[in-house]
Amino acid sequence: MKKWTLTFLLLIISMLQAGSWGFFAHQRINRLAVFTLPEEMFPFFKANIQYITENAVNPDKRRYAVKGEAERHYLDADVYGDSAVYKLPRYWQEAVAQYSEDTLRAYGIVPWHIYLNKYQLTEAFKAKDAKNILRLAADLGHYIGDANVPLHTTENYNGQLTNQYGIHAFWESRLPELYSDDYDYFVGQAEYLEQAQLTAWDAVIGAHQALDSVLRYERIITENFDPSKKYTIEDRNGINVRTYSKNFSAAYHTALAGQVERQMRKSIKMIGDFWYTAWVDAGQPDLSNLIDVKFSPEELEEMRKAAEELQELKKNIREHDGASLIKDSPMTREKFLSRMWRGQ
Ligand SMILES: [Zn+2]
Repeated sequence: MKKWTLTFLLLIISMLQAGSWGFFAHQRINRLAVFTLPEEMFPFFKANIQYITENAVNPDKRRYAVKGEAERHYLDADVYGDSAVYKLPRYWQEAVAQYSEDTLRAYGIVPWHIYLNKYQLTEAFKAKDAKNILRLAADLGHYIGDANVPLHTTENYNGQLTNQYGIHAFWESRLPELYSDDYDYFVGQAEYLEQAQLTAWDAVIGAHQALDSVLRYERIITENFDPSKKYTIEDRNGINVRTYSKNFSAAYHTALAGQVERQMRKSIKMIGDFWYTAWVDAGQPDLSNLIDVKFSPEELEEMRKAAEELQELKKNIREHDGASLIKDSPMTREKFLSRMWRGQ
């Protein structure tokens, strides 16, 4: 029993340290993506927004239990050499032919996996399978969020190679927790993606380009900061946790000049675009009679447990012309905000 408890604690700690966008940011990103959808999709997603939000972190929970899951969250682009992010084969079969599947899986497959997940979501839309649509849409939101995190594109994912250990959670959990209430989340309306696989790569490229600032500013601020003030001890649910101090976080936040916000916004828009594109590619199925998706008592129990577990964790830490499909008035900032505030 004791051993079990210890294992569980270690699992929680490792999840908190090595996740991807913190749980909080992943959930917010998935949730906000719902508000970008066209009227034909919005009611179904809004009716199930709690599921989409809570299950935004499922893939991270699976990382430690399911073989083959971990590599879906990142791409260590730099192990393939300089500028690899621009040169790696864009499509899975070509990449396997060039590098072998084992090598690809060893260094992460996020851009290719996003495309596979999008294909699966398209199939679920075609089948009008509400549960699979929701499950795959929530997963896809997670992987897209990860692809937009700079530290998910490098072997030095936690600053361990540059004496900046801990920077991963600093950038993607600590900063959003402190500042994301003030971010501007209006990203417009979801748009059709002509080449979704290349869009996934654009995200990885953008994130990789941002990596230099992520590491450089932390180093510069550290060099100019009183070492005794860099960290602080915070009480989280009765547990003392060492974290970056508010002043150090503020300095980093200022130096990054909105970078975390930009990457969150990109994630939200891209998720909306992918969901919408999958739906269009499936032939724009009518989702209105799927709204009342009923989960079995077992499924509900599982979700309830997952939500509880999450609360615990938190305490601690062109075939189609896209334009012609939008029949309602274009998305405006006012409409976006009113959807959010009215909770409709
Ligand atoms: Zn992840």
